[in-house]
Amino acid sequence: MKKINIAVDGFSSCGKSTLAKQLAKQLGYVFIDSGAMYRGITLYFLNNAVDIQNSEQVANALKNITLRFEVNDALGKSDLLLNGNNVEAAIRTMEISNKVSPVAAIEAVRTFAVAQQQEMGKEKGVVMDGRDIGTTVFPSAELKIFVTASVEERVNRRYLELTAAGTQVTKEEVQKNLLERDAIDSTRAVSPLRQATDAIVLDNTFLTREQQLATALNWAQERTK
Ligand code: C5P
Repeated sequence: MKKINIAVDGFSSCGKSTLAKQLAKQLGYVFIDSGAMYRGITLYFLNNAVDIQNSEQVANALKNITLRFEVNDALGKSDLLLNGNNVEAAIRTMEISNKVSPVAAIEAVRTFAVAQQQEMGKEKGVVMDGRDIGTTVFPSAELKIFVTASVEERVNRRYLELTAAGTQVTKEEVQKNLLERDAIDSTRAVSPLRQATDAIVLDNTFLTREQQLATALNWAQERTK
């Protein structure tokens, strides 16, 4: 069977990484969470008081950032390493969620992240989730899926995920964060969140994880024949 790249894009908290992770597992492919990279860069900027309005400070900071994924066998996923340190928990906080989209809108940041993402997909066999994977990172990916779900469902899922991880947060705060990120991600000048013209839409509002996976696996299998 031939190896392909799969791009999974969509709005915040619509189940992209769950789907991408399951697809990669079923196909024996590598799963890459591109959002983790923007979160890692945001964490570095925060920890080092980088002024994101100052392009020189941003450029210098990027020179000091090394991002790497390391397989976490216990969780069956990869953790992000920022300059050699496992920052998986630190990048999932509300503080990072509230600050990441303005960082991800900076052209130099995107150039930095996209070059590394494209390198990871060179040998194919990658399922990458994000916002611009089908449009910018892998414009010739053999399968592009654009995932959507109702705002209410997305807020519920994210709220349950955060509270299960022990984060004190209200549904209102979660909704505000999701809608703000979606607005910034969709309107930024450089690679805004868009459905690629050749992407297939997968609305999972009323689908179980198993149904969503089965649908996407069918599409993947058609393309690997
Ligand atoms: O996927 P996740 O929600 O963790 O991504 C965090 C943020 O990173 C998004 O809200 C978006 O601002 C940015 N992002 C991006 N392009 C990607 C992936 C994520 O701009 N490919």
